Amino acid sequence: MKQEELRKRLLLDRSSGYDRLAPGELERMEEYCDGYKAFLNAARTEREWAAQAAALAEERGFRPFVPGQPLAAGDKIYTVNRGKALTLAVIGTEPLERGAVIGAAHIDSPRLDLKPAPLVEQDGLCTLKTHYYGGIRKYQWVSIPLELVGVVVCADGKRVEVSIGRDPGDPVLTIPDLLPHLGDKQSKKPLYQGIEGEQLNLLAGSRPYPDDDGKDRVKLAVMNVLYEKYGITEADFLSAELSAIPAFPAGDVGLDRSMIGAYGQDDRVCAYAALRALLDLGTPRRTCVALLVDKEEVGSMGVTGMQSQAFDRFMEELCRAQGAALRDCFANSFCLSADVTAAYDPNFAEVYERNNAAYLNGGVGLCKYTGSRGKSGSSDAAAELVGSVRRILDQAGVIWQMAELGKVDEGGGGTIALYMANRNIDTLDAGTPVLAMHSPYEVTAKLDCYMTYRCMKAVFEA
Ligand code: MN
Ligand code: MN
Repeated sequence: MKQEELRKRLLLDRSSGYDRLAPGELERMEEYCDGYKAFLNAARTEREWAAQAAALAEERGFRPFVPGQPLAAGDKIYTVNRGKALTLAVIGTEPLERGAVIGAAHIDSPRLDLKPAPLVEQDGLCTLKTHYYGGIRKYQWVSIPLELVGVVVCADGKRVEVSIGRDPGDPVLTIPDLLPHLGDKQSKKPLYQGIEGEQLNLLAGSRPYPDDDGKDRVKLAVMNVLYEKYGITEADFLSAELSAIPAFPAGDVGLDRSMIGAYGQDDRVCAYAALRALLDLGTPRRTCVALLVDKEEVGSMGVTGMQSQAFDRFMEELCRAQGAALRDCFANSFCLSADVTAAYDPNFAEVYERNNAAYLNGGVGLCKYTGSRGKSGSSDAAAELVGSVRRILDQAGVIWQMAELGKVDEGGGGTIALYMANRNIDTLDAGTPVLAMHSPYEVTAKLDCYMTYRCMKAVFEA
């Protein structure tokens, strides 16, 4: 055997995904990524994401699931959980007791949530106090434009949707950082203390309410702006969910336009892939489910997180329509837990293990285990399971790579995989490699985004 042939047969292919793309794939990749960027711009919170996804699903023939309704092969259904999570399904030709194929991802992202009493006036400036959500590096969230988005429920039960900073011409909010001229002491602090949680205060106003001699005139003027636009009072913040998120749109990154920069790609890049793959599905052999959940960034708790029984209830209703037992369905199901992984960054080479890191343009990353300090918190997929997924992806011509987050002792992270596996569902992690994960501007490679979609579709169609 020639050496070249031997190398090809025996060694792992680590060539760029671009050298392995099939004819026509480049055009399909660009088209897919245009759709992805547009969706990111329209859906920047889990509530917006759930609503936009439901609207898209309706356009494609999906209907809200009514418990007790009969189900036939090819039926397309969905359900929204409290406006923050959604589950969609296409009923397969095989009975549910033989299991479902589940693509699971999360649609919440790190952000700055307003505190229940956020408004403060001090020294002539009005600010909004925040309590950050998820694992952010606080210093990254200062001196950038931020938009305010969310819902307020008033005392009379009226529900108001707030969005300030997205429309062109809207004002934005920001947290001004310290000037370098006075930043000497701050610069000597450890990075994680450079900006403290209680300093994440959004600049909201500076103009005092006119013709008034009371106190807090700037705060009064700011509250009046909100009252005139939304009819809300300071007490209404208590029953609100308002977040500050980056106020810039998704766009191409790199002179060659090979990458995408945007807020919230963790994990909307995988959520969009799962959604699109399900929407593009014909009638599958096994029932296919796209599960798009909330609260992953804070531990998957709560009624809209993956630990909630909302998913079990939905699946139980599907099973009931076919007279199947939920535990039989789960025991025979497969879940691809789709969440982003860290992309190797040569700028920070010391934290990555180059032989097992995921690389931009290497395709979707398959992650046998996540966790930290000795795989703690990982469900660690079985060799048999990884083997079967490998075969599916190779047969479908999907470009993939193995992915480990970083060096063993550097840290780690978890996903929703263990909560699926705890339900007796065979689960494997897979996802798109991301640079600057959890930052206001995360970067992915277009090829990897597209291959995440191709991976989802291949698994659904297997
Ligand atoms: Mn994630
Ligand atoms: Mn995350």
